Amino acid sequence: MWQRQVGSGGHGGREGRGGREGRRPLPGRSPSPPPRRRSGELSPADVAALQGSAGNAAVGLTLGGNSASRPVQRMEAEGSGSSSSQQQAAPQQTASPQAAPPQMEPDEVLAEIGELVDNPPMVSYGARRQGRAHDDFWMRFPRDKVGEEAEQTISETSALLFDSMKGAQERARAGDEDGGADDANNREVQGMLINDRLVFASNFNSSVDTLVEQGEEEFGETPSLTQLLTIEQSNTGRTKGLRHHEAKNLLDGLASARRKNRAIVKGQRGDGEQGRGPDPAAIALRAKLNSPVVVVDIEDENLHTLLTSEEGAGRVFLLRFGALDPKEMTKGKGKGKQTQEKAVHAEQKLLLALHHAKINPRKDIKGPIAIMGKFRPCMGCAAALKYYRERLGFEGLKFDENYGHYFQGSVDQLATHQQHIMDEHYLEYIRQMVADDITSTPAARNEAAPEGAVTRRGGPSVRVPGRYASRQADVTPAASDAEFDSDDEYVRTSQRPLDDMWTLETANTGIGKGAAAHTVPRRRHEYLTEEQGQQLTDLWNGGESGIPTSKGRQQALELADKYNGPHKMTFDYIAPYFRLAPNRLNEYVSRYRKEGHWDHVPSRSNKVPNQPKNRKKGDPAKQFTKGGALDDEGRQLIEAVIRSLGGDPWCEEWIRLRDREAGGEELPETEQLSPTKAPEEILRTLAQLRRDRQYSVPDISRFLYGGKNGDKLRKAIANKGMKALEKHEKSSGPGVVKSEDVEMGEASSSVAGPSSASASAVAGPSTGPSRKRRASSERESGREGTAPPFERERITLPLRLGAPQVPGYELRVGAGGQPYYVDEETGFSYVRVEGRMVRLREEDVDSDAEMSGAGGA
Ligand SMILES: [Zn+2]
Repeated sequence: MWQRQVGSGGHGGREGRGGREGRRPLPGRSPSPPPRRRSGELSPADVAALQGSAGNAAVGLTLGGNSASRPVQRMEAEGSGSSSSQQQAAPQQTASPQAAPPQMEPDEVLAEIGELVDNPPMVSYGARRQGRAHDDFWMRFPRDKVGEEAEQTISETSALLFDSMKGAQERARAGDEDGGADDANNREVQGMLINDRLVFASNFNSSVDTLVEQGEEEFGETPSLTQLLTIEQSNTGRTKGLRHHEAKNLLDGLASARRKNRAIVKGQRGDGEQGRGPDPAAIALRAKLNSPVVVVDIEDENLHTLLTSEEGAGRVFLLRFGALDPKEMTKGKGKGKQTQEKAVHAEQKLLLALHHAKINPRKDIKGPIAIMGKFRPCMGCAAALKYYRERLGFEGLKFDENYGHYFQGSVDQLATHQQHIMDEHYLEYIRQMVADDITSTPAARNEAAPEGAVTRRGGPSVRVPGRYASRQADVTPAASDAEFDSDDEYVRTSQRPLDDMWTLETANTGIGKGAAAHTVPRRRHEYLTEEQGQQLTDLWNGGESGIPTSKGRQQALELADKYNGPHKMTFDYIAPYFRLAPNRLNEYVSRYRKEGHWDHVPSRSNKVPNQPKNRKKGDPAKQFTKGGALDDEGRQLIEAVIRSLGGDPWCEEWIRLRDREAGGEELPETEQLSPTKAPEEILRTLAQLRRDRQYSVPDISRFLYGGKNGDKLRKAIANKGMKALEKHEKSSGPGVVKSEDVEMGEASSSVAGPSSASASAVAGPSTGPSRKRRASSERESGREGTAPPFERERITLPLRLGAPQVPGYELRVGAGGQPYYVDEETGFSYVRVEGRMVRLREEDVDSDAEMSGAGGA
């Protein structure tokens, strides 16, 4: 009877199930007064309530910053004064707690969550590819996992299984170029101990399918977990896109998990040996070592039996969720084609299994129940786990409560597949995570906590600035380890040596600095402030010098476009600041909207309107800029080329130094990079910049950490750079790359691509406004009237950077003030180089990040 329940081919999702369920009141929902949502100010009662939460180190953070504008929400019972919502009609406030509890619709819950996570104290990391989190993190150091033996084993086994899934993908691709799923986005495996058996889930079904297929190929029909775990990923695959310390940490951790698994398989780990407590997960893994894994769909009608029957104890289950499988499109343009496979965060699949199997926690569960993965749960999943524990009766459910980042995809997936938890209680859990606590992040395995660390939830923790948070949201490392002695007997080390003490000075840069979670002020400015008005006047008319520049006028028009567009100010109102007639300004802005920028400076001016496209020696225009300072545009361009060459050691080093500087560090003069070692693409770009823009060599040299006087750089450009440039221009000709379809258009944007590296990275994303997929964005755009979604994002520009908004992209400012763009459709990051959109390579951004909603755990 213990055959695979579902073959990897014949498990279509069932239409009409597994998707949205009708909203229905949950049995067992308590009639207690639910929390009401409140947008608005923090009332004195709220402050008192927060200050009263004893021992909560996050209170300081909660009260810091602009608490006045933060929509903190409190339980009705905790009593906050009434406050009004700015954005929507006031909800029907219940006058008395005895009244029937108003139920929030999932849409409302999503909207409220959006308010919470788009505002302080939340900030976004890596243009949200790393999700959102707090400014500070609890960094959690290796610790004794006493009392959490089962959770530790589930987590370590999940890490091994994940590695095997990746290994199976490698094998599938090696056998057939198109083989295997493109599971680059598979991030996580989580496991559940329930009724003495283990159930594992990944983000994508295909990860399970490919692993089992590869296992069958090697071991025959019915591979066991032990057999599947022998399929391993290559070290190259494991460490792709990782920084050195991250790679080491990952490999060390995997090796340790493998030794522990070996001790389990040998029957030597799990019973409470060598000072370690009993480990029900290890015992479950040992129970039926040679039994094949069972692949089962969440909607399988036998699932309840599989998860509860006595025969099922000791078995290992791999979950699928048919609703995520690709489906053939039955109508429309793509008729006959397959849709893309969908994903959910792994722990959501496990919770869905409990839900679809209709597990009654009181009757159906005997013994411990725990859900753990290689990653800590993201905020959305942690709230879902909490919901199951506290609202759905799974009282003994253990999970990692030290949650990681917030990912919108996670909450959207819950709203799609688990509407039954999207209510005011779920919202309240998110609110608590946002307002009452901060995000957690793991230290590396070899890092000891510094002095002054506090003990928090069983282990040493230090509050660190967000930029040091790990790019991998792993669970906290265990302080123990497993070794084998000369007789191949398992020996437990309860406290393995930690060779590195974490200090702020030596800390590795992690996810980078956070940015405001939302770049758009929530309230429209219907009037210009005095400064804004003056800014328009100065930009258009040339300020004190009285000589307008083309750049200034372009900026002024960009502003007028925004004030008139999203801000809904009339030209009658704006034009006087330009000292123009409203009609005239209207014409200018219309032309700008249609054609992008052009030269605005009247020809009678003696000023050179713009950078000439290609200056030749002897060109008189050259005198204007010879040895000119390296400006923002030049810095952006150079940085873009460097970042597009991620992986090159010189570039990596430069990025590291740049990050340190961006982190506020003053670099000693000894921290230098040899310009002659820069990749040819860089030197070629510099040669071109020297020739066409005459940027000062010492300026560039300082920017490249190549020394103050620039002598070495000058040589490198003259020797290598110029040669490379000549060669390049011969082979490709000037102006090879243009992608005007994505640019706003600038008079000066027709210069040849700075390098083939960045040129080849140019993607041609769809033109025009792309629809945002994020539910909250759609909500917001709905709220903001008829403005297309992208226009909403076009309000606060870092003007001094001169980075214009580009339709379909979200403008962000990264470390060091570097502006970049995130494609709203794909989430890929771009920089704008000479009017073109240059895509940053995957590794530059953050490989651990959420790509298609699968990020986090
Ligand atoms: Zn998650």
